[in-house]
Amino acid sequence: MRLLAIESSCDETAVAIIEGAPGAPATLLASKVASQIELHRVYGGVVPELASRNHSLHLRPLVEQALADAHLSLREIDAFAATSGPGLASSLLIGATAAKALAATTRKPFLAINHLEGHLLSPFIDRSGVPPHVALIVSGGHTLLLDVEKPGSYRKLGTTRDDAAGEAFDKVGKMLGLPYPGGPEVEKAAVQGRPDAFDFPRSMMKDRSLDFSFSGLKTAVLYTLTDRNPVDGTPKEDDLPDLCASFQQAVIDVLIHKTLRAATTSNRRTIALSGGVSLNRSLRTAFARATDDAGIELTTADPALCTDNAAMIAFAGLLRHQNGECWPLDSDIDPAMPLVP
Ligand code: ATP
Ligand code: MG
Ligand code: FE
Repeated sequence: MRLLAIESSCDETAVAIIEGAPGAPATLLASKVASQIELHRVYGGVVPELASRNHSLHLRPLVEQALADAHLSLREIDAFAATSGPGLASSLLIGATAAKALAATTRKPFLAINHLEGHLLSPFIDRSGVPPHVALIVSGGHTLLLDVEKPGSYRKLGTTRDDAAGEAFDKVGKMLGLPYPGGPEVEKAAVQGRPDAFDFPRSMMKDRSLDFSFSGLKTAVLYTLTDRNPVDGTPKEDDLPDLCASFQQAVIDVLIHKTLRAATTSNRRTIALSGGVSLNRSLRTAFARATDDAGIELTTADPALCTDNAAMIAFAGLLRHQNGECWPLDSDIDPAMPLVP
């Protein structure tokens, strides 16, 4: 069975085609992403009107390129899926409407997929199954710890009380005068820095809950900046690598501490990492070491599937389809769609 999926929840337009049968690893036949990062960079963040306009410009050529990559015609697709939330309403509408139109004209089923379920399942695309595990989704808008019994069966263990991990990276990057998005830039600068140069707070480490908080850390970076350069609070050039490395380490320490504790309390032997922040190499290395020490298996998403893409939406759609699910063509998008009710 072959499924074509569209992702357009934010500033990436993406189309993917996946092929799969129950119990066997799925095969990705095509995965195209048109990133709008350059377009939004001059504004220092995503401009919703620009994003939706560009989704409508890029979508049709991307669908055609994906079909060409997969050597398939539209008639050979058995189902269509689209991200239906959470995300920007005007962006979600473009992809969801296109997928419904394709499903209607070909008389094939339509599947409305939660963007976060896409991230969550992305580490397992090339596996033959999804084992029970603890999942950490660290993206631009979310920091979510979940207990996963099986696909579709999720229990929320913890989430952020303020900023998401990726959002903290982006805001600190902005403070430090780095281009948008801050995450990859902070990682680059951190390579030359000392992670113990500044003693930044690890919020809620001793808290019994599995929730996170990153706004105190962000403020600590700001205070350090104004302290060291009272004139205008811009970082002294020599400070930049140390600030980035110390901030990054504080985020990593908290994420590892809570995720390992979640695995213990949920009695799971596998941890899966997904979302844009899981691209961070220091984070991957630190997680690999910590899980190894704890005798826990670590599964990460392929680097190409950490930030937004349609392959993860196609995979989530495939599993939902195999589960006999299908959505009516008048089903709506939901910009605040929860993963766990
Ligand atoms: P959500 O999925 O919550 O709606 P999103 O789709 O914007 O948010 P992703 O595309 O998964 O999020 O990830 C983007 C985020 O990942 C940005 O905040 C970006 O800064 C961060 N990021 C990307 N690469 C890195 C990196 N190497 N280190 C740290 N953060 C990174
Ligand atoms: Mg993005
Ligand atoms: Fe995302």
